Amino acid sequence: MTDFIQPIFEDHDDIFFIEGKYGGKVPFSNCLLIADHIIDTGISALYLKRLRHKFTIRKVLFSHWHDDHIRDNRILEDIPFYCHPKCKPIIEDIDKLLDLYAIRGTPVEIKFKEYLSDVIDVYNTKIKGSFSPGDVFQIGSYEMQIISTPGHSVGHCAFHIPELKFAFIGDIDLSKFGPWYGGTDSNISEFIESIEKIRKMDLEVVATGHRGIVRGKELINQQLINYKEIFNAREEKILSFLTKEHPTSPEDLLEKSIIYKDYRFLKPFLLVMEKTMIDKHLQKLKNEGKITQVAEGYVLS
Ligand SMILES: [Zn+2]
Repeated sequence: MTDFIQPIFEDHDDIFFIEGKYGGKVPFSNCLLIADHIIDTGISALYLKRLRHKFTIRKVLFSHWHDDHIRDNRILEDIPFYCHPKCKPIIEDIDKLLDLYAIRGTPVEIKFKEYLSDVIDVYNTKIKGSFSPGDVFQIGSYEMQIISTPGHSVGHCAFHIPELKFAFIGDIDLSKFGPWYGGTDSNISEFIESIEKIRKMDLEVVATGHRGIVRGKELINQQLINYKEIFNAREEKILSFLTKEHPTSPEDLLEKSIIYKDYRFLKPFLLVMEKTMIDKHLQKLKNEGKITQVAEGYVLS
């Protein structure tokens, strides 16, 4: 079964969108295969094995350090791995994930460690080299540029082939869920800047880490705008819970459908990340003077 390997262009037989297990939904992700290079490994161990059987892979590039994009890379461990310099120390020492997800010392810590090692097989991965924004990879007949798109995480990159007006934009994923910034390294302003950067590019086709392929300049632009709008919608929702009189704490805002609508996937872990994302909005609103921090939480200014 190889229907997860999808050609992107009719007239190019060496660029494939590789759809991850369960449609590339977390805890899996989609990958890109361009000639003998693969970007990300989150499709599942079984799909990686099938891919390896069918194609020669000489280099693995990571779009960012998140576990759903580097998981199961053991299947390709004899092939050199590359990533952004800021992701290298994290991928090489996955204990850092506990701090980046703010779960060290919480009741979820042990469960999360078990999840990394026993469920999704994420382990310390030696990175052979790094790439920087602006670098160009010559892959077969294609020139692929590295585009810096931080915000979702530090070191998050997009991969652009100008000749084809195509980019793999990783976890600027255009999903219905919307942008995710639940890491301590995530940054809302940078995320918005990165979306704007993609909007300015001349693109006819994009592929993302958790959704399929989007085609057409207009549609890509509209979907990027809709995706960015979700920051505002969440912010509005947070403001609707705040009053001038009674302080609201970040904890009060959990499970109010501001970020997650359901918690089927490791609920205690999602609650930690939901709090991180709400905290980032509260900081932003405070910096903009819209809310004021008091002893027990926040009030409208
Ligand atoms: Zn992801």
